[in-house]
Amino acid sequence: MPTVLVTRRLPPPGTAALRDAGVEVRESPSDAPLDRGELLVGVRDVDALLCMLTDRVDAEVFDAAPSLSIVANFAVGFDNVDVAEAARRGIVVTNTPDVLTEATADLAWALLLAAARRVGEGDRLVRTGSWTGWSPTQLLGAPVHGATLGIVGLGRIGTAVARRARGFDMDVCYTSRRRHEAAEAETGARYVTLGELLRTSDVVSLHAPLGETTRHLIDEAALGSMKPTAVLVNTARGALVDEDALVRALRDGTIAAAGLDVFEHEPALAAGLRDLPNVVLAPHIGSATTQARAAMVKLCCENIVRVLAGRPPLTPVRPEATG
Ligand code: NAP
Repeated sequence: MPTVLVTRRLPPPGTAALRDAGVEVRESPSDAPLDRGELLVGVRDVDALLCMLTDRVDAEVFDAAPSLSIVANFAVGFDNVDVAEAARRGIVVTNTPDVLTEATADLAWALLLAAARRVGEGDRLVRTGSWTGWSPTQLLGAPVHGATLGIVGLGRIGTAVARRARGFDMDVCYTSRRRHEAAEAETGARYVTLGELLRTSDVVSLHAPLGETTRHLIDEAALGSMKPTAVLVNTARGALVDEDALVRALRDGTIAAAGLDVFEHEPALAAGLRDLPNVVLAPHIGSATTQARAAMVKLCCENIVRVLAGRPPLTPVRPEATG
């Protein structure tokens, strides 16, 4: 009977589909990540690994798992998996595209609106009892309706974010390594260079994967080229942004505000970030809806069942997709 290691407690519907397909499931009962030692011991004789973005899956893990044939990552991003090394060893890697796109785009919009309209600051004002009543000068924010939205990475989630912008009459531009004509036609987004996007956008929303070409894409110079009234939203991966440079930019008024769902060294934050009033902080909940998480579970299980039966997976990660 083939065996799968599930590194973390899963939301419903859980692993019933694996058991129904005759797979032995070793599932961590805990909602905490396995430590490195537990992961290396846990994979020893398994055929499949269902892992989280909090698990680093690299050559050391593959060395410890001689029977491994599939790594099913419970995320669309796969920067935590050494995909090239897996390919060299004939191990299939899968992710969970599409099923979390709308949930993550919704969260990007929640952060965009909250950061631009200072909802977090207002919440704290009211909650702490410091609010003395309506004022014509209180918490003036940036307009969202009619503003220019710059999308870095017009893929699945970037396109879903751009689609929502039409309801706000926004002018949408985007940048990526190549043009995406179908998404341009659907959303009306204009292709521009990263430099132009940063200089001209009122809101910059990040949707590119983390890879060597995107690590610290938004650094001190990039932040310095943005409008002082601009809002930065990051629901992609924390390391796309130099977080120390962002703290300085938010503190010095280089940009106006930020909304962040992801952080460079989760769950740790860059020094000073949590003290800034003009940043909205979410605990990496982009895909955290009941429906999206259930669909992610089903897709991971289906990929594992297929690969263990010698069939192609539904959503393989191609090694050349690594950025
Ligand atoms: P996707 O469909 O692959 O879209 C990513 C886009 O980024 C592609 O269109 C790609 O286009 C573009 N891109 C790649 N390198 C770039 C670069 N250097 N500069 C600008 N654009 C670049 O992926 P997705 O499903 O939309 O997901 C995007 C990311 O969101 C994931 O990788 C993941 O890290 C993150 N995510 C986070 C959460 C959360 O919980 N916060 C949830 C889901 C996903 P080109 O190849 O043409 O450049």
